[in-house]
Amino acid sequence: MATERTWKTIENGPHELDEFLHPVSLKNYGKWKYHERPRPGVLKHVAESGDVLFTVRAATHRQVTVDIVRRLCDLADRFADGHLRWTVRNNVEFMTPNAANVDPLIAALEAAGHPVGGTGPSVSAIAHTQGWLHCDIPAVDASGVAKSIMDALFHDFAHEEMPNRVRLTTSCCEINCGGQADIAVVVQHTRPPRINHEILANVCEMPSTVARCPVAAIRPTTVNGKPSLMVVEEKCIYCGACFGACPAMEINHPEHSKLAIWVGGKNSNARTKPGNMKLVAHGLPNNPPRWPEVSELLKRILAAYKAGGRDWERLGEWIDRIGWKRFFEETGLPFDKFMIDNYRHARVSFNQSAHIRF
Ligand code: SF4
Ligand code: SF4
Repeated sequence: MATERTWKTIENGPHELDEFLHPVSLKNYGKWKYHERPRPGVLKHVAESGDVLFTVRAATHRQVTVDIVRRLCDLADRFADGHLRWTVRNNVEFMTPNAANVDPLIAALEAAGHPVGGTGPSVSAIAHTQGWLHCDIPAVDASGVAKSIMDALFHDFAHEEMPNRVRLTTSCCEINCGGQADIAVVVQHTRPPRINHEILANVCEMPSTVARCPVAAIRPTTVNGKPSLMVVEEKCIYCGACFGACPAMEINHPEHSKLAIWVGGKNSNARTKPGNMKLVAHGLPNNPPRWPEVSELLKRILAAYKAGGRDWERLGEWIDRIGWKRFFEETGLPFDKFMIDNYRHARVSFNQSAHIRF
């Protein structure tokens, strides 16, 4: 006999923001008059009501243990009325209306190994992708790259000495997360996927794998009497999109998956329109746990920008002013033909497929 449905649908979704806001934030929501930066890593917001709220920003190592979260929560209880928040770049921010709490909070954070900074014209922490810990297709541990780079840029996080803010990203595959940034470190595959024909038919949905390819390089085929897929290697752009759909098309390789550096991206409309990043270094070794070649190149680029950029110029704007020739001269990076995309080969590198992808 059919039973009557008695349960109710539970709505899912994010909580209301209000319950998490610091009381001073909540009271003055949308009614802030101005803000200033009394020192690197500290923001002072002043509301129309006269209320003042200090925000102290500190770096974390991105993949934090429960112990570290508890330690940070203890600091929030001691100095910030029990409130803290994480930024999209994995900084942690504490808010307090009490100016006397700011210096002791900074001292406690630094004693615990969390540098305070990342505001104004500094190098803020890196927005990066999930890496080995959470995703099934990464060729590199993006979190590890981010930690290694930020260790090398410790000074530039804690001091506001750049011409303008510097935003960095890392991406552990070529096709998904990540984004435009002043400097981005992105995985670069250098050869087509290797196909395991023995298991492909059992583990992959072939039509959707074919549809994944942006240049229509994947074709159905038969190998040893079994249905399988093949790649037209002349068309393949080594993007790795098929690997995400089909684990039998492995593209990650300890030797042939490299890292590349792109520069000059910008999301904001301030002064100049948003811009796309350009490739300036490629084929860098993907060598955990510290990726020293990547950090070294980033330091060179940032040193040249710091020395030559004018106040308020973002990295891409600095390059636009001095030109790419001088960029390569001043950073000492080698320039080669692979860094030029003049669209002459658009017929073979653009998306020519009419497949619908999801
Ligand atoms: S960038 Fe690619 S590999 Fe890295 S987390 Fe995102 S989808 Fe996964
Ligand atoms: S999806 Fe990308 S890596 Fe796979 S065959 Fe197509 S171009 Fe090559």
